[in-house]
Amino acid sequence: MKQGLLHHIELYVSNLKTSTTFWGWLLEELGYSKYQQWEQGQSWKLQDTYIVFVQTESKFLDIPYHRCRVGLNHLAFHGKSRQHIDELTVKLIERDVPILYGNKHPFAGGYDHYAVYFEDPDRIKVEVVAPNES
Ligand SMILES: [Zn+2]
Repeated sequence: MKQGLLHHIELYVSNLKTSTTFWGWLLEELGYSKYQQWEQGQSWKLQDTYIVFVQTESKFLDIPYHRCRVGLNHLAFHGKSRQHIDELTVKLIERDVPILYGNKHPFAGGYDHYAVYFEDPDRIKVEVVAPNES
């Protein structure tokens, strides 16, 4: 039963090449595979959900995204394990992706919430969360 689960997410980006380089790496780390590609967009899919990135038209680039304005604040993904979160954090740092809330990492979301927070090239916040340890 898929009713109500996210079918897809579509994000408009300021620079398709920069965003798909970043998101392609991240989503493939999370188990997604390349799905669709055309001149102005590209998507990755995992099971029944896909995420699409589309180049914003230049006439709409004058107002940049800001996650504190009305609209999307962040996207959160399930990670595989705490070790996976740690490995991903190292890879993000190697790619010069700033880790948010570094002084509280990996417990910025609370002591029972093991996660890494960072930004995509348009500064959309991204979170990857470990499953609760039993
Ligand atoms: Zn969150």
